[in-house]
Amino acid sequence: MEYWNPYIETLPREEMEKVELSYFKNILSYAKDHSILYREKLRGIEANDINSFEDIRRIPLTGKEELRRYQEMEPYPYGGVLGVDIKEVTAFRQSSGTTGKPVYVPETYESWQWRIETWCHILYMTGFRARHRVFLPFGYNVYVAFWEAHYASEKVGCELVPGGALDTKGRIYKIIETRANAMMNTPTYGLHIAEEARSMGITPESLGIERMLCAGEPMPEATRKRLEELYHCHVFDHIGGTEPCAWGSMCEAKQGLHIIEPFFLVEVLDRETLRKEVDEGQMGVAVVTPLGRRSFPLIRFNTYDVVIKGKTDCSCGRTWKKISEVVGRADDLRKIRGVLFSPKTVEALIREEFQEIVEYEMMVERKGIMDEVNIRIEIDPSAEPKAKEIEKRLKEKLKIRTNLSFQTKIEPLGTLPRYTLKAKRFKDERER
Ligand SMILES: [Zn+2]
Repeated sequence: MEYWNPYIETLPREEMEKVELSYFKNILSYAKDHSILYREKLRGIEANDINSFEDIRRIPLTGKEELRRYQEMEPYPYGGVLGVDIKEVTAFRQSSGTTGKPVYVPETYESWQWRIETWCHILYMTGFRARHRVFLPFGYNVYVAFWEAHYASEKVGCELVPGGALDTKGRIYKIIETRANAMMNTPTYGLHIAEEARSMGITPESLGIERMLCAGEPMPEATRKRLEELYHCHVFDHIGGTEPCAWGSMCEAKQGLHIIEPFFLVEVLDRETLRKEVDEGQMGVAVVTPLGRRSFPLIRFNTYDVVIKGKTDCSCGRTWKKISEVVGRADDLRKIRGVLFSPKTVEALIREEFQEIVEYEMMVERKGIMDEVNIRIEIDPSAEPKAKEIEKRLKEKLKIRTNLSFQTKIEPLGTLPRYTLKAKRFKDERER
């Protein structure tokens, strides 16, 4: 087994915790001295009073709304979250703005290198090596993950082919032309490339991709396996965000995601109270503190990612803590008729048992005093004669998996939107 950094990847837990606690104290004190947000927010909390992980739990969480609010002040556009002199900033990045006004993210050369190093861990533990020519099928724009992926690929020795400014067909031709053998994409786009390739008479496995790193959406195990079958390759998941950076990744054992330590302190907190760490096997919200980033210090950032806490030991030998599953965004988990509903459950069902369904979209509405949940599906033309039977079976299985009765509707092929980045297949129209 090879590691990117053997020392920190196999550090005994006790040592790791000491390192993380000391890093936490450093970044806390740095943030208080250099960012207006934390000078105000953490008044009365001193780094020297933090001597255990229990002490850390008393520090308030940081939310995205707060970042937006503090960015309204000077210096433009980073405002009170900036942790360095603005002259030190060398790169402008921003969040996608899918959940509101974007957050502007300042990187200095130093903090950018820190981000790249965390990404090198992700690539190395998912088996990306010098023999790989990596295709990145997106235009990068101001979105941080693509730039990180690009530079980290170079740093681990891969050869990177940027695939922006092309449509999906153009990208497929580019993969063939360059003989790229690895790819980084959202799960949705991986499926879309496969669908498009087939429509061009090209089988996805003939593209020769042997390794695929995914992110951007919660990926059910069934989707990961589906991609592996389609491309005959290894598919890995990782998790992160623009503000805290990518903080967790699968290793080659493909059983849960490791937290990249000691770059991040990740807490998995009880969803109701956000006060205590959950036990192994339980669901909680990931709260992340990047431990070595000065340009944009974040203390206990609430990611709103709901995850299941995993066990620490792994056949890869890393001592890094794990999460066993990414459940979804906290705001995607909804109560429908009193039942907790996760859109990921439906995706898992469709990828596992309904390969004839090429696209789908769900919506919940309020009809009178009742919530009504419906799903529209598109069926592969080859399965058209069995459409009614598929619809009936889907209705039954949905009831079993989610405890909800869905209204179903078959749409003509091509009716529903196709996504290239983050898919939005679930809409809650009840609050409008
Ligand atoms: Zn592992």
